[in-house]
Amino acid sequence: MKVILNYLFLLGLFFILPIQTAAQQCRTSEIRKNNIGKNPLIIDEIKRINTFTDAWIKENTLLSSTRSIVTLPIVIHVIWKNSAQNISDAQILTQIEVLNDDFRKKNSNFSDTPSGFRPIAADVEIEFCLASFDPSGNPTTGITRTQTQVNGIGNSELFYKTSSGGINAWDISKYINIWVCDLGDDGLLGFATPPGTAEPANSDGLVIGYQFFGTIGTAANSFPNDLGRTVTHEMGHYLNLEHLWGPDQGGCDEDDFVSDTPLQDWESEECPNFPFFDDCSFSGIGINFNNYMDYTDDECMTMFTMGQKLRMHAALNGPRASLLNSNACSLSSSSADYIMEASTSILKTFPNPAKDFLNIEILENILIDKNIITIIDINGKTIISEKMQQKMKIDVSKLNPGIYFLGINNKALHKVIILE
Ligand SMILES: [Zn+2]
Repeated sequence: MKVILNYLFLLGLFFILPIQTAAQQCRTSEIRKNNIGKNPLIIDEIKRINTFTDAWIKENTLLSSTRSIVTLPIVIHVIWKNSAQNISDAQILTQIEVLNDDFRKKNSNFSDTPSGFRPIAADVEIEFCLASFDPSGNPTTGITRTQTQVNGIGNSELFYKTSSGGINAWDISKYINIWVCDLGDDGLLGFATPPGTAEPANSDGLVIGYQFFGTIGTAANSFPNDLGRTVTHEMGHYLNLEHLWGPDQGGCDEDDFVSDTPLQDWESEECPNFPFFDDCSFSGIGINFNNYMDYTDDECMTMFTMGQKLRMHAALNGPRASLLNSNACSLSSSSADYIMEASTSILKTFPNPAKDFLNIEILENILIDKNIITIIDINGKTIISEKMQQKMKIDVSKLNPGIYFLGINNKALHKVIILE
């Protein structure tokens, strides 16, 4: 932290300064201001969370930089008016992969990180998975689809209400809700609610324009926002990161509460050459324009810092801690593993994703000749049924791409299969 900030002073700005009306790539700060206007108690909550965060970071900074990896459950709510907005399961999965790569420092463009910033780049050690169980405990793909009659629903307060053409959040203490919908045409990519700032509380989550979600389908022609980093950025906000220039109007007396990000005046654009200087950081390595919490092009963004990692883990030890106790993501998850293990580990399936054939190996000594392997679609309908063998090769070439459950005797094991 380059500048000691007075949080109260800063929060006071929310009332003094007029609400920005100009289009922004990210509307997180503006939504927070609006929510404080609706419920001033949010100011106390932000102050409480920031006090906790500072104390937690102080206690944990000296610990090993390696923390245990946590997996957070996501539900994607696709709200669509025309079919183009009803993005595919495959497109959604590319976004989960981007999130996991970016948060684990496995992003393919990490090699573009300027040498000056590499020492502070973090493996955040947070992963994400599509929820395997819905709030009622039933198996789910972690994706809901809602047709609406509302134009630009993400640009209104209707998206989080089933009664208004949107869809209600799933339990916000157990799921990260991401609404993917139309945000209009004024350049808005998305927004999120930092901890404690949603108003009403059940609007908590991320809202992302359908053109900026994942890397294929509707995202393919969205350069420079075509690599899924809008969601990486908004997930940073959801886990209590600020923009590099701070939570409000920027300037050199406003910071992002992170110790290792250079002080930055205002947002960056496109992809500057390293080192890039501004009025606040005018020597050395300059500003961290390649950070996910700046506004540079998706292909220019490569990293979170160690300080940002600590702040996000503070959120998971404080205001977002309930996500760690969620059973919604009981399946193990890794960035490249789209076939997610259920509580049982009796099966091994490959490849991921499967295209023409899905190989299955039975790992445990069960009554193989008495059982049937089934592939079940997301409506619960059995599509393929074959007698179980120790090693199987199932022809899936005629199935439509999407998510399926693998089951034994028509009982879904919550395995999710993607067929390209
Ligand atoms: Zn933002």
